[in-house]
Amino acid sequence: MSRLFLFPTLCLFIITTAAAQPSRWQQHVKYSMDVTMDVASNKFTGKQKLLYTNNSPDTLTRLFYHLYWNAFQPNSMMDNRSRVLGQQLVNGRPDWDGRVRDRILHLQPDEIGYQQVKWIKMNGVAQTMKQHETILEVVLTSPVLPKATVTLDLEFAAQVPVQIRRSGRDNAEGVRYSMSQWYPKLCEYDYEGWHPTPYVAREFYGVWGDYDVNITIDKKYLLAATGYLQNANQVGFGYETPGTKVPHSTGKTITWKFTAPNVHDFVWAADPDYIHISKPVRDGMVLHAFYKISPEALTKQFEAFSAKQQQQYGNNAKNFIDNYREEWETVLENAAKVLPFMDKTFGKYPYKQYSFIQGGDGGMEYPMATLLKGAGTGVVFHEWMHSWYQMMMGTNESEYAWMDEGFTSYAEDLVTRNFYGKSTAEGYREALQRNPSDKNLAQALTFIPEDHGDSYNAYFSLVKSGLEEPLTTHADHFNTNYAYSNAAYAKGAVFMEQLGYIVGADMRNTILLDYYHQWRFKHPNVNDLIQVAEKASGIKLDWYREYFVQTTKTIDYGIDSLWEEGGITKIRMVNKGKMPMPIDLELTFKDGSKEMHYVPMNLMFGSKAPEGAQQRKVYNEWNWTNPSYVIETSRKLTDITMAEIDPSHRMADINRKDNRLELKW
Ligand SMILES: [Zn+2]
Repeated sequence: MSRLFLFPTLCLFIITTAAAQPSRWQQHVKYSMDVTMDVASNKFTGKQKLLYTNNSPDTLTRLFYHLYWNAFQPNSMMDNRSRVLGQQLVNGRPDWDGRVRDRILHLQPDEIGYQQVKWIKMNGVAQTMKQHETILEVVLTSPVLPKATVTLDLEFAAQVPVQIRRSGRDNAEGVRYSMSQWYPKLCEYDYEGWHPTPYVAREFYGVWGDYDVNITIDKKYLLAATGYLQNANQVGFGYETPGTKVPHSTGKTITWKFTAPNVHDFVWAADPDYIHISKPVRDGMVLHAFYKISPEALTKQFEAFSAKQQQQYGNNAKNFIDNYREEWETVLENAAKVLPFMDKTFGKYPYKQYSFIQGGDGGMEYPMATLLKGAGTGVVFHEWMHSWYQMMMGTNESEYAWMDEGFTSYAEDLVTRNFYGKSTAEGYREALQRNPSDKNLAQALTFIPEDHGDSYNAYFSLVKSGLEEPLTTHADHFNTNYAYSNAAYAKGAVFMEQLGYIVGADMRNTILLDYYHQWRFKHPNVNDLIQVAEKASGIKLDWYREYFVQTTKTIDYGIDSLWEEGGITKIRMVNKGKMPMPIDLELTFKDGSKEMHYVPMNLMFGSKAPEGAQQRKVYNEWNWTNPSYVIETSRKLTDITMAEIDPSHRMADINRKDNRLELKW
């Protein structure tokens, strides 16, 4: 105590540092793996040495591992869940993932996936294992004490499943191996305890640490992976230092050695026909792309397209293939172009490498890499942005899928806007000009904000569907896939844009950067984000979390009436919804001038800074218990041509019709 008085400056320094860097203990892993792949049988064996450090204050008496690929077996949880969801129709369609459907049920023994741990030892002592399909429980002979590091050795055997979901062999583009979730992976233990989440559909949550991975495979195969290749000059394939003479391998196989620091997963992919291109983008950072053009596989895809999709390519498969090739050829240029914007807006990308790898069944994010079908800018920007909202933040995706997919979708929109120089609404307006009779577009423009219009649209549809469930629902436990995706992707993005409405767009941008600086590599949850936002803005936001995240309550404000009283024009607004919000109300006058009237909501205990250049009048707070509020202007009633609540359309009001009143005198 006395030291604090003696060194007040030092004390202050410590306090500020502590406040800027919230501490949350993290478990730590160091994986060393050697695997040998047999490309004829699609089976591989591996040895794994894992140094596990228990940084928690708890004594661990058992451990849990993920064995994801056991999901790709008939009657697995993934299979069952998919078929159950397939029996319910949402918007006239079976609610299962079109990639999974009932395909797992029909897998033959040589097509299934499996991961079998043969034995496991802790500090050299054999341990007992209990298998729960995709989760392996290890009952320890002696506990792992707080602050202890133990060595876990295991041997495993696996079969690469036919491509069903995320990983597998021989995907639709003809890529031989998409190797994600391919090794026994320790489950995360955090302040909530163990997270042994069975693999049903989604999502991933892992322990940060370092990976050394050696992969021995047929020497004709080119590999792409999370991490840095350590023996590039022995392997070649475009990885070697330019001008190096790569030694000719006399054996049938070669061993690829990768190392990846500070990641929570490791992905790889392999194909003998991959084209490998790379591009240095800034000091010590290189982008890579790996793809192949299989006219056979792509023609098959084209033939499966709907008539409308085929029309987009002039009903000619060759145009589709040419377009597909061009996307891959330009992917690194496009990615390089947006990196400075991403760094500036969301925080600096910290790794020295990022790879766009053709593989998988859509777009799926991994540390330092993504598996993609095609390389269109939308999916490319989306998956890369996951480097921020999954790979660096590492929120538990089962609990907070929206903080991952939603924020990534939010960021994707802004990166896309930066790339094309055009907002979503601008795109809608242009489309409307080309097609003035499109009522849906015209209608959408009356309620979408300048950016993230698609997300707002999807959120409103979700509300209308009656299928909405709170964002706090476990990602696997939503009643419908429909509700999951619209909640995670769309409502999550709306959360972030609407936060900008509440605290101001500039402040929201500051919050995003603070969030990055304070919480990357620490698995933040929603409370952590809210606290960052509250500290930066000086506005209380617990109510925002409570209403928008924990419940499905919706917002509905409206303009009720306007009248003149003693030379003052009064406007009454009403709250007809279940969720309170602060209100921006804009008045437009005959002479074209505008006034902004701002009413903070009482639970905020603060107000946002003015956002536009126009004149703003700030009112006393609107108590959320009060169904109406009256604002006033000194301008004449007959001078007003329009009154509009939230002209920015960032507040997700489910009924915007009564937000806007046009007056004709
Ligand atoms: Zn995503």
